[in-house]
Amino acid sequence: MIERDLAEKKHSLVRTRFPPEPNGYLHIGHAKSICLNFGVAKEYGGRTNMRFDDTNPVKEDEEYVRSILKDVRWLVGGSVDSADPWDGNTRYASDYFETFYEAAIHLIKKGKAYVEELTAEEIRQYRGTLTEPGKESPFRNRPVEESLDLFTRMRNGEFEDGKYVVRAKIDMASPNINMRDPTLYRIRKATHVMTGDKWCIYPMYDFAHCISDAVEGITHSLCTLEFEDHRPLYDWVLDELRDSGLIECLSKGVPPQQTEFSRLNLQYTVLSKRKLIQLVEGKHVHGWSDPRMPTISGIRRRGYTPEALRLFCERIGISKADNNIDMSVLEDCAREVLEDDAPRVFGVLDPVKLTITNWPEGKVEMFEVDSHPKRPELGIRQLPFSGSLYIEREDFNENPPKGYFRLTPGGDVRLRFAYVVTCNEVVKDKEGKVVELRCTYNPDTRAGATPEGMKKVKGIIHWVSQESAIPCEVRVYDRLFNAAAPGKEHEDGDFLKDLNPDSLKIMKGAFVEPSVKDCEAGKHFQFERMGYFVTDTEDSKPGSLVFNRVVTLRDNWAS
Ligand code: ATP
Ligand code: MG
Ligand code: MG
Repeated sequence: MIERDLAEKKHSLVRTRFPPEPNGYLHIGHAKSICLNFGVAKEYGGRTNMRFDDTNPVKEDEEYVRSILKDVRWLVGGSVDSADPWDGNTRYASDYFETFYEAAIHLIKKGKAYVEELTAEEIRQYRGTLTEPGKESPFRNRPVEESLDLFTRMRNGEFEDGKYVVRAKIDMASPNINMRDPTLYRIRKATHVMTGDKWCIYPMYDFAHCISDAVEGITHSLCTLEFEDHRPLYDWVLDELRDSGLIECLSKGVPPQQTEFSRLNLQYTVLSKRKLIQLVEGKHVHGWSDPRMPTISGIRRRGYTPEALRLFCERIGISKADNNIDMSVLEDCAREVLEDDAPRVFGVLDPVKLTITNWPEGKVEMFEVDSHPKRPELGIRQLPFSGSLYIEREDFNENPPKGYFRLTPGGDVRLRFAYVVTCNEVVKDKEGKVVELRCTYNPDTRAGATPEGMKKVKGIIHWVSQESAIPCEVRVYDRLFNAAAPGKEHEDGDFLKDLNPDSLKIMKGAFVEPSVKDCEAGKHFQFERMGYFVTDTEDSKPGSLVFNRVVTLRDNWAS
């Protein structure tokens, strides 16, 4: 479509916009729209406006504006501090309040709009249904002068909320209900974040959006499919304003073109600001940026990189088809990006002591190992080894099932990069919990060596050395909901009933190897065998590290 428009010289420059309402934090559905709008403009050498659709004073807030700017900078620009990818084109629909007002006056003067005084309920009743045409309002043919007078007085604050509205005069018998004299303006005595108490009448979305697009010279207005039935109204308003002289592109006969695409739906989560607000206000999560949230800020804190999220948007593609994307598609994107980027380290999440009884007392041996198996430029790290180690509790099993290759009583395992050990004794506390594994090591098995005649050891596990291990906290996340479509199976549709009570597991006694000791917040690692992790941007400090698990190494949700 865009290539055709450019070839036909309909436009010389593509201009798109990303138009969120600042009434909540952005979620991954918005990421799809951001990648599309910024992506298309970039591909064709165009521009994208960052527009706040702030026409409803009641629900909007500056905190949301700040978070939205940060999220778009991060996703498109690559970091929360990057230069604005919208090149100074930050716009607010509230900047156009005067134009919206003039546009309504123009329509009233043309006899294409009128001041209505039916109540909201009556308007609903008159509107008709899908199978029944609507009924014309008794105020529909109010004289133009009277409508103009009432509209001016609405603006002057003479009437209470709901007393009057302005409606377009289109067609009460239209098969498209949006065309049955839709409301364009209403009274709202509320203070607006940007314009304060200057206005007490506010335009409806369908009126404000198309005009904002036109004022900004947007060429392609890309929106989600629920607006498809609104397109005739979008076109009607702009067509009726062509002779108003108010907006340049309309006078020239090149109005913006609305085109729809399907919304992103993601399984095991909810994507609607209304529901996300409920999760935050009901304290089911720790705020908008909780790493379990599908918000862009939550996904960022969880440890996804902008590249991973952009890869996801590219992979799901753009179409008009309904979709319900599996969470594993998103997780795979994180794995693909982090596989290349994240240095490897050893981290033991749930430690149990392993003591090597034949190790020389007090001796510490240093192993030099690669930080990344395929990227030597990431350097090497020093891994101290001693006779007192921690290994992962799940890497020992007293009653191993068939095919268990890790440590068992009397069995062997290789400690990666170091030696093969044999477990001779299992020490337990009073409750029967394993507290220590007493082992011997074989000095001839150093760094992968297998001496002549010895059977090759199949199991290889990670470890850390007690004297230098860094204590840390690790937060392991699972899906926030237990159901693919939260709320769907419940009669009342209550999505909160499907919350997963075990979506957060905090491992306070974890250890990591000493090479990560002073690492700053927001650093990624692969804990070998355990997954990808990131130091938490809010709670992690050098000296008291907190890691979030971004994603496991493999998809263990194969269901
Ligand atoms: P919600 O329904 O979650 O409240 P919204 O559509 O009301 O979202 P806006 O702030 O109006 O949120 O959205 C800004 C832009 O993001 C719009 O162009 C909208 O179509 C797009 N968008 C919102 N949700 C999705 C989604 N799930 N998939 C794709 N695009 C989306
Ligand atoms: Mg909205
Ligand atoms: Mg919506």
